[in-house]
Amino acid sequence: MKIGPVILFGPPGAGKGTQAKRIADKFGIPQISTGDLLRENVEKGTELGQNARQIMQRGELVPDRMVCDMVAERLKGGDCERGFILDGFPRTVTQAVWLDNYLVENTVFDNANGTRAAFVLRFVVEYNALLQRLTGRRTCPTCGRIYNVHTQPPRVAEVCDLDGSRLVTRKDDQEEVIAERLKAYEAQTLPLVEYYHKRNRLLEINGDRPVDVVTAEALRAIEHGNSL
Ligand code: AMP
Repeated sequence: MKIGPVILFGPPGAGKGTQAKRIADKFGIPQISTGDLLRENVEKGTELGQNARQIMQRGELVPDRMVCDMVAERLKGGDCERGFILDGFPRTVTQAVWLDNYLVENTVFDNANGTRAAFVLRFVVEYNALLQRLTGRRTCPTCGRIYNVHTQPPRVAEVCDLDGSRLVTRKDDQEEVIAERLKAYEAQTLPLVEYYHKRNRLLEINGDRPVDVVTAEALRAIEHGNSL
């Protein structure tokens, strides 16, 4: 099945990264996480990484121009031609407008019906659950798998089930930074709900349920969204 671009949308901790990996595996299409791409740039010390590092540590959003250029570069990859999952992008109305234009101008990215606009799966999660997920989150630095010490612990504490690497806590998952990230989400990202709703491209999912239940519903929603 050909899948059009899918945007996973929701606040930090809503489960976008976890679900994006599962959906990407299921359809054999790439997960494009702007947070992961930025963290890679920070680690490698690229110019983008040097510019983004402190902004990310404060929990603020990296400027639109930098993020859009980075996404444009990534979308040139041949692996995107059968579709892709965007995780953490767009996060501002400016980014959403940029993406709409980009998809129209770059004809390879269409769905089964030849529609070029992306559709959005919005994960709705209660505030306290978000806090618990963010403070309990651990990530494998080798394979990127995400765990949660409360709800999805690894088999051996602090060790990845898949490759045995020692799990890490993201720097921006500390409480003061979490508060900033949630503020940035409310002020700059939440307006996108109206943007996509008006264009009839928004599907909502209750993300407060077990991971497998959410994945099953997300897969059903993608089939529906793909025919929009
Ligand atoms: P995430 O892994 O999606 O939570 O992103 C981590 C951090 O990367 C965010 O707090 C922002 O500082 C930055 N970031 C990720 N995606 C974007 C985006 N689309 N626009 C601006 N900043 C972003």
